[in-house]
Amino acid sequence: MRNKPVVAIDGPSGVGKSTVAKGVAAALNFQFIDTGAIYRSVALAAKRNKIDWHDGPKVGEEALRHRFAFDGDGNLLLDGGPVGDLIRTTEMSEGASTVAKHPEVRDALLDIQRLLGKDGGVVLEGRDIGTVVFPDAEAKFFLVASSKERARRRYLQLKEKDESVTLDEIEKAQQIRDERDANRLVAPLRKANDAEEINCEKTSAAEVINHITHSVVSRFP
Ligand code: C5P
Repeated sequence: MRNKPVVAIDGPSGVGKSTVAKGVAAALNFQFIDTGAIYRSVALAAKRNKIDWHDGPKVGEEALRHRFAFDGDGNLLLDGGPVGDLIRTTEMSEGASTVAKHPEVRDALLDIQRLLGKDGGVVLEGRDIGTVVFPDAEAKFFLVASSKERARRRYLQLKEKDESVTLDEIEKAQQIRDERDANRLVAPLRKANDAEEINCEKTSAAEVINHITHSVVSRFP
């Protein structure tokens, strides 16, 4: 039995999971764990070591060679050092979703994610937290929004970082990633039966954060 709950927040890319999960973690004083950042860091490490993202066994071995941790603000530390925005490029989005389809990689990262959340008092955000990583999570949420709206949000984020991308490019790349995430054989993107679905299309991040925070507090005062 955990003293504090595990909060699982899943959903497709660009739906605003990170903002929401970060906000909920801050409101509850829980640790925020961005599991997508771990897949992104595996893609980065593989690239640095000239390993083909399509080579499942090799990328799986690479994932086991590194240490993944999070600082108090939820920033990923790869082998003890911050990776910052190096993992936030469109290239690493593509790399992460490519390495994430390999069973060897998912296996390697499963124990790491479970260890990070085992004591509860955590908000984990990803694609398969409620279904695979923590099927016994005390509180599960699944965020949805149309692909147009998600592409628009992603576009604004990348523009802020000065990446020269068009909305059309983002939408196409996102569609490919969504399909890959939803159709892969291992741990596809799916809502857990016992997750609450939240439509974020017209709801502000602040409202979603409030809703989730209240839902958790009311059940685990
Ligand atoms: O959430 P984010 O866009 O950073 O995730 C990058 C990629 O990592 C996703 O497209 C997905 O393929 C993969 N991922 C995953 N399972 C998770 C988190 C992320 O497969 N729990």
